[in-house]
Amino acid sequence: MSETQHRDHARTQPEIVARIESISDEVDPLWFRRRTLLGALDLEHARPFIPGAVIPDWEPVSDLRGVAKDLYLKALGHLLGHRADLASLVPERLGEYAWLIGGDDAFRAMDEAPYTRYGAPKVRAFATGVGLIWPHDPALERLAAGEPCHPKCSRCLS
Ligand SMILES: [Zn+2]
Repeated sequence: MSETQHRDHARTQPEIVARIESISDEVDPLWFRRRTLLGALDLEHARPFIPGAVIPDWEPVSDLRGVAKDLYLKALGHLLGHRADLASLVPERLGEYAWLIGGDDAFRAMDEAPYTRYGAPKVRAFATGVGLIWPHDPALERLAAGEPCHPKCSRCLS
């Protein structure tokens, strides 16, 4: 494992617990954000948040960056496929991964990016914040700028 990968686990367990506790049901009714954070906790720290508290094979996500990258690649597919149904909650999860592996600046950049065009500006902010490649794709560039993917795209214009 390289030095870069070690730095993925920049957040301590208590920091992650504190963040989970700071997120209310109002802003995270379905636990998309908190479940993302929960995955980074060991059993000792996760236990208070798990109803029943008996999960013998609980394993924290060992490769947060890899999991985040997989989600990011799926998000790119949702953007290009205009899958509003699938895309809408991805930025919330990517936002927490940005906080976990990219730091406060990465989270803030995503938070400040507008949610438009299936969340494309937020997804691009995620890539930039955590150092993943944003593809040089004209349709993605336009979506991330808040424009239709193509001037005549009927789905973007509807
Ligand atoms: Zn389009």
